[in-house]
Amino acid sequence: MLHITLGPERMINPAEDELGRDRVGFADTMSDLALYDANHGCWKLGPRANREKFMLVTFTGIVRQAIEITGIEAVARGNRSVVHGDILRPCHPVFDKFIGKQSPIQGVRNPVTYFDDDLDGRPCLCGCGNTVAGRLFLTGHDQTAIHDRIKQIGSVAEFLAWFDIVRGNKPGQS
Ligand SMILES: [Zn+2]
Repeated sequence: MLHITLGPERMINPAEDELGRDRVGFADTMSDLALYDANHGCWKLGPRANREKFMLVTFTGIVRQAIEITGIEAVARGNRSVVHGDILRPCHPVFDKFIGKQSPIQGVRNPVTYFDDDLDGRPCLCGCGNTVAGRLFLTGHDQTAIHDRIKQIGSVAEFLAWFDIVRGNKPGQS
């Protein structure tokens, strides 16, 4: 996951900001959208950012916002980027795991960091090439994968017989 550590809210000059913002940072009074607008750029991101699916935004060590990343865009000036995405809501696993809680990243100087989490997207174990977050298979793909293995052996009866031999089971005791 991409992890952004914010400082307190401060005013900036919209004429000098790549995104035309008048403030950056965190304040309790900001709405979710205001927090997103103020802080989804402009960051110096490494190549890893392009592989990340989620961004956490933290202030004073507490996670304040979680974003599902939909795109990363370079800004005109410098080597900085803007992260585009959807603000996550309750019942999303990333929101429920992190929002309002202690961040896994504490006390860093660089505002941009990364960490690995079980909820990061990973390849579906069936080998279809899709990614899944927080589980091993896309819905139904575990069934597809197991039936594909059975077919490689033959019928279900042939698969069971083969399985029992491989496992050293007595027939019918698998
Ligand atoms: Zn799959």
